Amino acid sequence: MPEGHTVHRLARALDALFGGQALTVSSPQGRFAGGAALLDGRRLASAEAWGKQLFCSFVPDLPGGRGEERWLRVHLGLYGAWTFAGDGSAEVVHAIGAPRRRIGERETMPAPAPDSVPGVAGADDRVSDDGAWAPPAPRGAVRLRLLGTHAVADLTGPTACEVLTGTEKAAVEARLGPDPIRADGGRGSLDEARAAFVARVRRSRVTVGQQLMDQAVIAGVGNIYRAEVLFRAGVDPWRPGRDVPAAVLGSIWDDLVVLMRDGADHGAIVTTRPADRVPDGGGGRVTRQNTDGDDGAVPRDASFYVYHRDTLPCRVCGSPVLTKELAGRNLFWCGVCQG
Ligand SMILES: [Zn+2]
Repeated sequence: MPEGHTVHRLARALDALFGGQALTVSSPQGRFAGGAALLDGRRLASAEAWGKQLFCSFVPDLPGGRGEERWLRVHLGLYGAWTFAGDGSAEVVHAIGAPRRRIGERETMPAPAPDSVPGVAGADDRVSDDGAWAPPAPRGAVRLRLLGTHAVADLTGPTACEVLTGTEKAAVEARLGPDPIRADGGRGSLDEARAAFVARVRRSRVTVGQQLMDQAVIAGVGNIYRAEVLFRAGVDPWRPGRDVPAAVLGSIWDDLVVLMRDGADHGAIVTTRPADRVPDGGGGRVTRQNTDGDDGAVPRDASFYVYHRDTLPCRVCGSPVLTKELAGRNLFWCGVCQG
């Protein structure tokens, strides 16, 4: 499942590709036909992320933007993905981050089911007879298509895709914990967001490893950031939240602000410090990232301390990295460094 940094990247891409444009909105698959009709012809005012939730503001395409604002909410879940294509204009290429055109499951899913992942839209520079750019036909079960002047975005396989009023959007946000990537943390200021996170974790005896995955405690953290930030802090994931000192939780928040914003800027999760980036040589499980193959990118087998490195030696102390299921997800940690 994509972690929060991916959803923030999606919001930035949608803003860059479609911001300010009146869009043709449709549901080629049909399952979102009613919602698409509510948005069709409206102008995309902005796109934003809060944790793993994506919100796009649509306003009437009228002078002064009169009429009620509507919000598109998307949660990709395990199999959701956006596929982009454009007319090749520099602006579009920059937003998509060519040559990659899919954003979603690729970053953390080891092996998506074949029938859930339609082929990448390829012919994105086709030109119609009158010389205008023509978007590629939808591939697979496209729930939602956003078509603008220079680009098209197709959404497949989301867990949630719905249209909300401002009040309904606020109700969704009220259930979300602070987000380390948002400028104000989602709590008015980063300081308040940090304090809210620390206080919330310390209210409960639930393990800190489990609480970090709870989107009501902190939004956007997934299995990779959870495992890695606890390793970097030297904290045992099985420790009850209320037993973790406030100063340690504060430093975990601060570390997540740095790590997750770096992930949002670069499209890959890298948590190893430079001195610890010794490649495993293929011994670990493959975790694909969007920067794979890029010049200068940290190799994927050198990017993490513990995630998917079970049985391999800890990069710091050499003892085997451990794994065990916690609340339905595999947790990875070093029993010595995080003792
Ligand atoms: Zn260790």
